Amino acid sequence: MPSTALDLLQSVFGYSSFRGQQQAVVEHVGEGGDALVLMPTGGGKSLCYQIPALLRQGTGIVVSPLIALMQDQVDALREAGVNAAFLNSSLNVDDQREVERQLLAGELNLLYVAPERLLTGRFLGLLERTEVALFAIDEAHCVSQWGHDFRPEYRELAILHQRFPQVPRIALTATADPRTRDEIVERLSLQQARQFVSSFDRPNIGYRVALRHNAKRQLTEFLEGHQGESGIVYCLSRKKVDDTAAWLAEMGIEALPYHAGLEATTRAKNQKRFLREDCVVMVATVAFGMGIDKPDVRFVAHLDLPRSIEGYYQETGRGGRDGLPAEAWMIYGLSDVVTMSQMIAQSESADDRKRVERQKLESLLAYAEATACRRQLLLGAFGETYPGPCGHCDNCIEPPKTWDATVPAQKALSAVYRSGQRFGSGHVIDILRGEETERVLSLDHHRLTTFGIGADMDEKQWRSVFRQLLAAGLLEADAEGYGTLRLTAASREVLKGGQPVRLREDARPERGSRRRRENKIAVGGSLGIEAYEQPLWDELRALRTRLAKQHGVPPYVVFHDATLLAMLRALPANEGEMGRVSGVGDAKLKRYGSDFLAVINAQN
Ligand code: ADP
Ligand code: ZN
Repeated sequence: MPSTALDLLQSVFGYSSFRGQQQAVVEHVGEGGDALVLMPTGGGKSLCYQIPALLRQGTGIVVSPLIALMQDQVDALREAGVNAAFLNSSLNVDDQREVERQLLAGELNLLYVAPERLLTGRFLGLLERTEVALFAIDEAHCVSQWGHDFRPEYRELAILHQRFPQVPRIALTATADPRTRDEIVERLSLQQARQFVSSFDRPNIGYRVALRHNAKRQLTEFLEGHQGESGIVYCLSRKKVDDTAAWLAEMGIEALPYHAGLEATTRAKNQKRFLREDCVVMVATVAFGMGIDKPDVRFVAHLDLPRSIEGYYQETGRGGRDGLPAEAWMIYGLSDVVTMSQMIAQSESADDRKRVERQKLESLLAYAEATACRRQLLLGAFGETYPGPCGHCDNCIEPPKTWDATVPAQKALSAVYRSGQRFGSGHVIDILRGEETERVLSLDHHRLTTFGIGADMDEKQWRSVFRQLLAAGLLEADAEGYGTLRLTAASREVLKGGQPVRLREDARPERGSRRRRENKIAVGGSLGIEAYEQPLWDELRALRTRLAKQHGVPPYVVFHDATLLAMLRALPANEGEMGRVSGVGDAKLKRYGSDFLAVINAQN
């Protein structure tokens, strides 16, 4: 039996070295210390508890809120030759008894359990009769009642510390926000735990945001660069999900809808296809995502503004968990801001909650309208200082042109002010442009001093100015959601002439799209597969799908894309070379090595 952490990493998981903080965590927990691990999605949290569980005597108990994920994790571990099992309500009584027997007999390296199961007297009693290597509390942010994933049972997990004070505990989450972190420490009694905080940057994700002018055409162009890849397209409403999915399907794209209004069986079926097939595009509302651990999602597209930066980060974070390139792409318009404000205004929430939600929307809008590095802004929202530019977002690749818009901004602000701060941008733009509409005439607004002072710019240009003034906090929309605009404290400085305003030139509706289509991304997809490599790549993927079907697991449980890609590039000719490919551990080499070698050798 191998005994060091590095041996296990190589022989069981087939990886050559630890990533980031993994080694430090593994050593700390392996020696019996408590840990709180904050790592972004795809950072490699699982190994942080799996390897210590293998290093230590006894069974590692993993608390996980998601039944669907347990199955995948256990399948993947078994494929790698680890004795793993799960206990949850999906098992029948006989199977449950069998798992309990294995636990008591000390046959399990890892056991995944749902929190409500763990907390039963019966299960705690079982644990007292077994040797426990460690407790891993996955998705630890579920203790936070402020988050979307609040699970009341998670708060009772502090009992583990009282009942089993000598067993190390490791809590893990991908939620970056400091308030949640404090709540985890408090609720799980982890005051003594060492904290391992990683950067929340996802370097393999490229960010791109554009104005929406023709959603269908823009989406089609975007998808051209992602043919044959898995991805998620998020929409705000169920209807838009249905329409978009149907339209994409008509275009010959494997697109499926997912939202809370669909029958549970349809949802489950669509989700399963997304997980098990190589190139399904899921069109979904935010209802989709929690518990989706698919590693090879190559793009996440937003056709509407999400609710907050946190939401956006979480949703885009579902791309590229395997570390290979992925793209986060969003299109939005001023109408989104109005719709969202209305949704917030009409919701049942208390006023202070509504205020928080409005602030969140505003900071997301500021992100969308930004002219500086998006990664820097995104990480800044989580309190992390990122030394940009990243070189891997639209603003870094092609810095947007800005212009001195101080005078138009002053005109816009004073038109808002003179008309009484009671109107939306449409009417104020009419005033600026000197349009004698019925409304303008009936309100006597053609007599205002600001009437017609902005006739030198067209309506579209004015709309862009208003949107950016909102994003910059120089105007605010009313709390009631009617879309009426008001000045802010910051507007005064601009009106007094004390502060210049620079705005983005966005006459070009979608920056960068044309140039991008000419470059390699569109040809080779995200992974940059060259034309001459394509036949072998397709064969490797087809073999993986066949083997996955035979074993009743999703394809990525057999091998991740990253591993297939490494094979494609290394072209191993024999077992020894195959064993050195990243992601090929001893058990998988034995099980699949010869099949993949046969395909590779047949081609070369
Ligand atoms: P998380 O739970 O943090 O989202 P995972 O534990 O699922 O991330 O790991 C993400 C991906 O990275 C997986 O495909 C995993 O196999 C891979 N991975 C983790 N650690 C390493 C490593 N040291 N070397 C190579 N790949 C790794
Ligand atoms: Zn950047």
